[in-house]
Amino acid sequence: MTRCLDCGAERTSDQCSTCGLTSAAAEVMIRRRLVRRTAWFLLGAVAFLPASQVFPPLELDAILIFVGVLFFLVLGLGAWIDRRARGHAEIELFKRIYFGFIPVPWLLAGLLFVNGKFDTTPPLRQEATVVGKFSMPGVLRNNRLVVTSWRGDQRIERLPVDRDDFNRFQRGDRIVVHLQEGIAGIPWVYAVYRR
Ligand SMILES: [Zn+2]
Repeated sequence: MTRCLDCGAERTSDQCSTCGLTSAAAEVMIRRRLVRRTAWFLLGAVAFLPASQVFPPLELDAILIFVGVLFFLVLGLGAWIDRRARGHAEIELFKRIYFGFIPVPWLLAGLLFVNGKFDTTPPLRQEATVVGKFSMPGVLRNNRLVVTSWRGDQRIERLPVDRDDFNRFQRGDRIVVHLQEGIAGIPWVYAVYRR
């Protein structure tokens, strides 16, 4: 059984009886769709980075690693589907999985934004001591204050902070971290103050 590459319907002759495309035309169409959706995915990934810093989650680094891994897996899947489509191999299931992943960066960006934007939970204040700091080069604000953790299962926290706070605090400073719980349950860093 062969399926039309574009619409996925079962095909008994070269021309698909559902969408009317020949197998060659269906290949052109599906590759065009792959390119278009991949562009959406890339755009979403680009939008995710600044969106994740508006209300920076406490676990921003773990989230960035997760998104980075997802990014390469999804792009790899897209390239693999493209290769199979060129060989006229079955792609229907993988195509659906792939298209299902396309909105994920947008949804994650929206989730982090809504999580902070509509957050009315009472603030949590935690005391901590700065034990280090680091800054990653790049266009984005990737400054972290490494502080002692207030959570039992963790030794340190890497707080995403803006450049002012990053420059203002030095190792050994005692600070208060103002956290918000987040409307979606993703804690985020509202501010850091000197104790
Ligand atoms: Zn078709």
